[in-house]
Parts: sequence; structure tokens; C-alpha cells
Amino acid sequence: MPALAPPSPGPTSPSRTLLTAALADAPLRRALDASDNAVVMTNSSKCVVYINEGFTRLFGYQPAEVLGRHLSEVLLGPHSDPDLLASIRGNVLAKGSFRTDTLLYSKAGQPRWVSLVINASDESSGGPGGSISILTDITLTKMHEVLQTHVLEGMVNELPLPELMALVCREVERIAPEVTASILAVDAQGRLHPLAAPSLPATISRALDGLAIGPKVGSCGTAAFRNAPVVVTDMATDPLWADYQELFAPSGMRACWSSPIRDHWGQPIGTFAFYFREPRAPDALHQRLVDVCLHLCALAIERNSTHERIHQLAFFDVLTGLPNRALFRSSGERALADLQRGRHTGALLFLDLDRFKQINDTQGHAAGDALLSEVAQRLTQGLRARDLIARLSGDEFVLLLSECTTEQAVQSAQRVLHDIAQPLDIFGQTHVPHASIGIAMFPNDGDTIDTLLRHADQAMHQAKSDHRHSLQLFSAEMNRRAQERASLERALQQALSDRSLTLHYQPQVLSSSPGTLHGVEALARWNHPQWGMVPPSQFIPVAEDAGLIHELTLWLLDEACRQLAAWRAAGHDVPCVAINLSGRSFHRPEFAQEISDALQRHGLRASDVLLEITESVMMDARPVTLQNIEALHHQGFKLSLDDFGTGYSSLSYLHRLPISELKLDMAFVQDLTTSATARALTVSVLSIAHSLGMVVVAEGVETTGQQQWLQAHGCPVMQGYLFGKPLPSDEIEAWLCAQAPRPYR
Ligand code: C2E
Ligand code: CA
Ligand code: CA
Repeated sequence: MPALAPPSPGPTSPSRTLLTAALADAPLRRALDASDNAVVMTNSSKCVVYINEGFTRLFGYQPAEVLGRHLSEVLLGPHSDPDLLASIRGNVLAKGSFRTDTLLYSKAGQPRWVSLVINASDESSGGPGGSISILTDITLTKMHEVLQTHVLEGMVNELPLPELMALVCREVERIAPEVTASILAVDAQGRLHPLAAPSLPATISRALDGLAIGPKVGSCGTAAFRNAPVVVTDMATDPLWADYQELFAPSGMRACWSSPIRDHWGQPIGTFAFYFREPRAPDALHQRLVDVCLHLCALAIERNSTHERIHQLAFFDVLTGLPNRALFRSSGERALADLQRGRHTGALLFLDLDRFKQINDTQGHAAGDALLSEVAQRLTQGLRARDLIARLSGDEFVLLLSECTTEQAVQSAQRVLHDIAQPLDIFGQTHVPHASIGIAMFPNDGDTIDTLLRHADQAMHQAKSDHRHSLQLFSAEMNRRAQERASLERALQQALSDRSLTLHYQPQVLSSSPGTLHGVEALARWNHPQWGMVPPSQFIPVAEDAGLIHELTLWLLDEACRQLAAWRAAGHDVPCVAINLSGRSFHRPEFAQEISDALQRHGLRASDVLLEITESVMMDARPVTLQNIEALHHQGFKLSLDDFGTGYSSLSYLHRLPISELKLDMAFVQDLTTSATARALTVSVLSIAHSLGMVVVAEGVETTGQQQWLQAHGCPVMQGYLFGKPLPSDEIEAWLCAQAPRPYR
């Protein structure tokens, strides 16, 4: 019968004497006494007839205090399992034995986790007719097993820190049920933040959040402040608790022992507290529990901050501290789902700084970084709690405004533009940052973050091209154009790789002898299988933006050279071919070389081509551009300045660079007969060019009136429909033949 079972009346077994006799055997007794396990024997009345010394060591009772009593009177305590006796009775009766892990109490009232094994000791087999129980102290094992295993498992499974800490508290309270545990974090500013206190009222945690540690801040705030454990045996009288009694009184807690949780530098990063319902100090078990837990808590909290740091690096922009694109997309999608549920509208604002690159290039990256940080701060200041912000890349920022109408979005964007445009000082220089904003509305302009981003980006580009420092709402028209552009881009890429572009050539004739060629200008033509002829005014800008222009230039250079060599081989006198170059090609260090390679492939010389550049190339201050221009000049190439008069070029550049030809823009030529200003400007261009030794080519000459005026004012070369449209190569041959008799050059 079980040792812990209540007594049942019955005759005292005669075998008791047998047993006592056996135990009188000295070697057996010594062996039993040396064991760390507690050994208990009961008789058939369930009264204790024997305990070993291990029992006394474990529970603190002398034999005289236990013999003749029922064990249940002795060992059960306030938090013992109430169903324990019933389980023992049932199992021992049915199977003759029972084992379990359970909580018992020592004489001093200290909890002991024990592994209990009970065997019925049959009178027929010489037993006392009761039971033999062996109790092994597993308090420590239990602590380690439960805490270590569970907490480490929790860490491996990425449990959030508060959950992990709650698990520690609950396990501690299970092992030592008289304890109420609480764990607080201490932040870098020395403020407390509750992590877990599953058995304390939530009002307490809320009240403690953000409390600064100090010399008189309860047990925890003081323990963190002192970086040493604080034992308060009576919260009601201890001065450390003076300010917090009211808060804790309803909880019924009377004593509190708090220990700092330290990081591996020894600094307090949290506190671990044991509360008791009666005034008291912690005991040895509590001390052991805390030792194990502090270590685990430190591990978990430190690990969490490492995780947070990694998260910070993965999802936040280092320079501005703003969320990055990845975080914006995930939190943005959640925000859109919320808007959807509430049937609200929202707005995505896509902001791009104007001329940021210029600041970065001219004043250095430190200045650029300072500007970006300031802009980020200005943007953040105007935000409501429910809005989202991110830095996407470089000088691009996005805002997601929740519950926002189109009118409100426009107002917000105007306010943002205004806020950003306040002067700021960067390294002693005053800047007024300007930005352009595109707006896409949820859900009308898109119902996913990606679509909204794309559409707001398109609107931003529109704002930029209209005029900088403005805002633009996305429109379906804009989207149609953007999509057209995207398909144009794909088709152009295809055309380039298929080599299905062609070149037309437009004659440039001498004013003095319009049948004589000065040269021909090669102009790209694209005949798309479905769309028909796509005008260069449409596909050249697409090629520029899509980064295809250089490939196109290299192709047309090769093709024009091939054609010129072919004409010459066929006996046609084409003095030179003019080729339009893009400014972007000049950013490639190898460009000058690529041009001379193309000529070499076809056996031509530098003087056989005229390289048309625009004023923007001339104004480009990049060293690589200047090096290319220098190299080309050095190799004997002639540069022609296209569309002269339309740009912002200052005449002073004209002598600095090796320009040998000016192409007077069509706009002047076409106004000659009607505008005195056009005539005056043309006259001065002609005279400047003359004095600098440059040839002027008048573009777009369509009428004999224009021709006569230009000729009279000494313009040496003309190009225009009057003399010939851009023509395929074979028609140029026909044109040449039609000019016969060709004056000899
Ligand atoms: P551009 O370089 O100013 O070329 C002259 C443009 O004026 C050509 O238009 C030509 O067809 C047109 N034109 C010539 N004479 C007359 C005339 O008497 N009246 C009128 N109304 N127009 C005339 P196109 O071929 O449409 O080229 C437009 C622009 O596209 C060119 O302007 C040039 O900037 C660019 N482009 C064309 N081909 C290429 C090329 O191969 N490479 C590069 N980078 N740009 C090119
Ligand atoms: Ca041109
Ligand atoms: Ca032109």
C-alpha cells in the first residue's frame, strides 16, 4: 500500500518485526543511509516504520518526527498536486507500483521536486505489508530540464522575446509555486519595459513601462540602477517601495527580490524579480532558480537585440534610419489591406529630389548624405502615426497616406514640397532642396503596393518633365503612354538585335552650287512590322532613356561608314557623311577609339565623317567627355554643333572646343522671311562662325526665299527638303545622277 495513502484501520502486521529485524542489520542500514535518495517504509496501516538518513537530509525530519505517522501529513504542502493520493492509490492497487515527478515540501516549508517510486511490499514476500518508497530530489534537474530545454527550444523556434520570457516565468512558478515571477527589460536610456509577468495584473506592467531606473525605484528599478540584487522582505515598510505601494497593493504581493540580468559586458539589460505573498526573503532553491534563469534571460534578451539589429540592417536605410523598400512593401501591403477592409482610400506619394545628382557630383557625397538626412527628417516630421514612409534608393522617397482623399493627398504633397524647400546649410553653403512628387491613389490607380509605386513613379516623372518642383497625379493616360513606351522599348531592343533599323541620307549642298554635295546626314529610320514607320523623334528619346542609344550609335556609325565606302567604290562622289552622336556615348572612355575603329574597318579616314554633337555635350563638364572630344580632335575628326541656337550654349564655348561646323537650327531658318529677330540672330551667327573659321549649315531649308536670303548673307551650306529629303541609299545615288552635269569638286 502506498506510503502517502491515509491510514486504514487494521491489525498491525506481524511481519513488522521481520522487517525491523532486517533493518537492524548494520551493513544494510549503512548502505541505505549513505544513499542520497530518501527511503521510506510503511506498514499495512500506511504508517511510517522506517526512514533512512537520506530522508532526513532531503526533508529535514528526524525519524522520531515521522515514525508512526502518515507521510501525506508530513510532505504535502500548499502547491502539491491535489490528485496525487488518488493516483498513487489507484496505480499501486492495480499494478503494485507507481512512479511520478511531484512537488513535496521540507520541514522548513521549502518546495522539493522529487521523483517518487512506490512499490507495494507484500507480506507474503517478507515485506511489511505496506510499501517501500524511494524519493529522489530532482529540483535541480527539473530546473535545468524545464528551463534550459524549454527556453532554448523557444529560441530555436524564434519565439518572440515576451513569449519566451513568459515561458520562463511560468516554469519558475511551476517549480516554485510560492513565487510570482516578473521580467523587465532595461533599455539603453535606462528605462524599464515589461517583458513578462504572467501572474501579475496587467495594470502593473502598463504602469511600469518607460519608468526610469533609479536609487529608489522599487526592487527592480533599484536593482538595475545598482546593478546588484535587491531583496525587499516587506514591501509595505521598505523605503525603496514607498512610491509603488499603491500600485502593488491590490496584487497582494508583500515581498520582492529582484536581480539584474546582465549582458556579456556586465551591464544591466533587464531585471528578474520574485514576488512573494508574505513578507520573506528568498531561500536556497529560489537562489538556484534565479541563477539558472538569469543566464537564460540574458541569452534571450541579447539574442533578441542582435536580431533587432539584423532586422534594422535588413529593413532600414542606414543613412536616414527610414524603412527601406522591402519593409515598405510588406507594411504597405498590410496598410492597404486595412484600407480595403475599412473601405477607405489612400495615397502613395513618390518623391524625387531635383538636381540631387548635381549636388552629389559637385559637392561630394558627404554633402549629398547631409541633404538626404535632412530631407528624411523634414518628411518624417509632417507624418501622422498611421502613415508610412521609406527611402527607396538614392534620392527617392515614398509616403503612404492612409485614409486620404485625392484633395487631401494634393494638399499633403504641396505641404511636403513647401517643407522640403526651406533653406538649409550644408558645410557652409546654403541649399534650397526642391523635389517633384507623383501621386497614385488607392484603390483607383492600383490596389497593390507595386502598382501604386509604379504609377506614382510615372506621375513623378511627368511632374519632373513638366517643370521641376511640382506635383502630378497619376492618370490612366499617363499609364497608357508609359506602357506604350515600354513596348516601344522592347521592340526597339528587338530591332537593334535584328539589325532591322535602316539609315536614310539627306543631302547637304553648297549654297554656291546646290547640285554639289557638301555631304550627307545619316538619319536613322525604323520601319516596324506592325506599327509602320516610327519617327526618330519618338524612338531616339526611348533609346536614350533605355540605355540603348550607344548600341544604336555604334551600329549607325558602322552602317554609314560601310555605305560611304560602297558609294565611293561605285564611283559616287560623296565627300562625307554626318553622324548624330548622343551625349551619353561621350561618357564612355572608349568612345573615341570605337569611332576610329569603325572608320578603319571600312578603310575611311577621320575627314570622311562629320560628328554631330548637341550643345549639351559641349556643356558637359565631365572629364571623360572632354577626354573623348580631345581624342577625336587629335585624330583629325571634325565636330559639328547640331541645332545651334536652340540650347543654352554660351558662345564662349565655341572657341574652347574644336568645333568646325555649326548647324543653324531649322526654327531660325523657317522664321527668316517673317521674323526680324530670326534674321538678326542668323546674321550674327553667320558672322561669329565666319570669324571663328567655322562652316555654317542651315537646316530645314524648304523655300527658295529662304535659300536666297541665306545665300545672300553668306551661309555656305544648306540642307532641307528644297534640295532633298532624307533618302534611302539607292535614291541618294539617283539624286546624285540627277544633279548632272556635276560641277567638278
Ligand atoms: P536633326 O539631327 O536635327 O535632323 C534633322 C531633322 O530635320 C531630320 O528629321 C530631317 O528629316 C528633318 N528635316 C530635314 N530637312 C527638313 C526640312 O526641309 N523641313 C523639315 N520640316 N524637316 C527637315 P528626322 O530624321 O525626323 O530626325 C529627327 C531628329 O532625330 C534628328 O534631328 C536627330 O536629332 C534625331 N536623329 C535622327 N537620326 C538619328 C541618329 O541616327 N542618331 C541620333 N543620335 N539621333 C538621330
Ligand atoms: Ca543632326
Ligand atoms: Ca539639327
